[in-house]
Amino acid sequence: MRKGIVIEAHDHGGHFGLERTIARITADYWFSRLRRYVRQHINMCLDCLVHKRPSGKRPGLLRAGLEGFWPTIFCKQPAHFPTFIGPT
Ligand SMILES: [Zn+2]
Repeated sequence: MRKGIVIEAHDHGGHFGLERTIARITADYWFSRLRRYVRQHINMCLDCLVHKRPSGKRPGLLRAGLEGFWPTIFCKQPAHFPTFIGPT
């Protein structure tokens, strides 16, 4: 029953977000833990996962000019590494 109501409001109603989907449902129905159930349904909706862009800040491009930022580190290495370590 709940699944059918949420599918009708979200999947067949245009894949709107949480608040609009809840508003559509509560116009005619109410059930316990409605918000959590609708949120879980929307988070699992394959169409929304594939087609909707994530909200929030978008990742930006790296800024040029960081070439001189990192200090150069020198490490002294031995000239020859042993090629065989074992009992002599
Ligand atoms: Zn959806």
